[in-house]
Amino acid sequence: MKLTKKQRAEVFAKFEGRCAYCGCELGARWHADHMEPVIRLDAERGAERPENHSLDNMMPACAPCNISKSRMAIEDWRQWIAGHVNSLNSYHPIYRLAKAYGLVVETQAPVTFYFERLAMECEA
Ligand SMILES: [Zn+2]
Repeated sequence: MKLTKKQRAEVFAKFEGRCAYCGCELGARWHADHMEPVIRLDAERGAERPENHSLDNMMPACAPCNISKSRMAIEDWRQWIAGHVNSLNSYHPIYRLAKAYGLVVETQAPVTFYFERLAMECEA
């Protein structure tokens, strides 16, 4: 299911041309992401959750966020990102060294997406 030009423009405008997740400014090669995934099966079987193909569920995303998120639901992706610090500590000696010399500081900050930060600012 492809979005029309008008629908793509609507998705792009949701956060004034910024990625809904990390908040970076989107370039020409942005992606329209299903926040809750539509799992495409094949031509015969269609999709697992076709009801998620709605403009309300579409988010403008930069390529790195969209590729990282892949088919994950938003809460699964949040946990996945939160786990990156453990992965760095487990598998990347240069990261551990940079941390030991104070070049990197772990904050234990919760993973908060740009669209959530905006919503919090509106409530404040
Ligand atoms: Zn992003």
